[in-house]
Amino acid sequence: MSHAIDISTDGVLTSDTHLIQSFANLNALKQEDARTVIVGAEGAHVTDSEGNRLIDGIGGLWCVNAGHKRQEIISAITEQLNTLDFYSTFYNFTHPAAAALARKLAELAPGNLNAVYLSNSGSVANDSAIRILHHYYNRLGQSSKKLILSRHGAYHGSTFLAMAMTTPAYSEGWSKAEGLVHHLRLPHYWREGEGMSEAEFLDVLLEDARTRIENLGAENIACFIAEPIQGAGGVIVAPEGYHARMSELCRRYDIKYIADEVVTSFGRLGHFFASKDVFGMQPDIITTAKGLTSGYQPLAATIISDEIHEVISEDGAMFFHGMTYSGHPAASAAALANIALMENDKIPERVRTTGKRFENNLRGLGDLELVGEVRGSHFMMGLEFVKDKEKRTPFAVTEQVGQKVAQAAQKRGLIARPLGNILILSPTLIMTEAEIDETTDILRESICEVQGSL
Ligand code: PMP
Repeated sequence: MSHAIDISTDGVLTSDTHLIQSFANLNALKQEDARTVIVGAEGAHVTDSEGNRLIDGIGGLWCVNAGHKRQEIISAITEQLNTLDFYSTFYNFTHPAAAALARKLAELAPGNLNAVYLSNSGSVANDSAIRILHHYYNRLGQSSKKLILSRHGAYHGSTFLAMAMTTPAYSEGWSKAEGLVHHLRLPHYWREGEGMSEAEFLDVLLEDARTRIENLGAENIACFIAEPIQGAGGVIVAPEGYHARMSELCRRYDIKYIADEVVTSFGRLGHFFASKDVFGMQPDIITTAKGLTSGYQPLAATIISDEIHEVISEDGAMFFHGMTYSGHPAASAAALANIALMENDKIPERVRTTGKRFENNLRGLGDLELVGEVRGSHFMMGLEFVKDKEKRTPFAVTEQVGQKVAQAAQKRGLIARPLGNILILSPTLIMTEAEIDETTDILRESICEVQGSL
């Protein structure tokens, strides 16, 4: 029997009619030329089945932080599989790779975040955080503390609970877990802060959170979950000081703060974790995935404080939570090799320079008529296109301006991610200055092309 996979465009597209793509218009995908078949990758680039070499402007999916085809990670995975292909971390079992990774993550995570629950995706890491916190409060005799505060614009994943925590805009027409999650205001000054200074807008956000807490009753609220920078909701950066003040507010009401660092960790903003080093706050739980293995293996982590860990592990309490592949040896080995590579190559430190160049270059595109706002930080950026720059009038979603710019960019050798009127860039973190400049040039040309065609 042959193990060869057909990589011809026609062959893949025929087989692909059986595959359900994620976050896609499944009907539109039936059209010819709607799908791009990626067959290879190296460094900051991928190759499609037509032989085109493209800059991977979305880093796989905000995850290939160390760049593609890094032999250090690939050989660590192979070596691990040759030693111990699989064993679980259920019951009393453990294995060297998962144990070493947990220790390393405890060392990298800020403050007293020293206990690590490993799983397979960011969604599950967030679900795990909530299950652990509910259990924690049950054990403290505070079983009414179940509600979750999230925010409009949030993305926390696609499992039933994670999607309920995600912005409602992402589940239109779908059912979701009802009653547990309350969404606070979108922390987007440019769109929501008209007539106010940024500091005034921050006060409004805090006041919104405080009244929600008072109305729901702090005795009913378990936690607040927030991305340091909202990613899939459109790369939204909250006003300066937001996270520190929200964390003070949460502490005052005994509400735990979960920082969803699925995107913002492992170098994307120039540090292993952004909460403390970039935003100056100490969460009670950090969740991470994506850049943890640079995408080479599916892996996520829920990193909890000593205080929470102590409560859930005393008096013979059972931890009724587990996924078969939690702490998979190959995934754990990939993460360890990825972290070692990042430390050796000083990737987070480099990002403070190269990521800043990327950010500044993209900010330069703000002079274009079509570009209403350029936002984000380092290698996590978004461009919002507007119909009328002065009035910030949005295009109708049906005009698909983000999609048009993305298509124009792909023709020129760059993959970027459209999201309605927004274009998201979250490339590999190893891009050279030349690749960064090329990306900017392609974006400028592509935006001008679309601008001219509207
Ligand atoms: N949290 C954030 C901030 C994310 O961006 C994502 C994925 N884009 C998730 C959680 C969910 O992670 P996964 O897709 O690995 O389940």
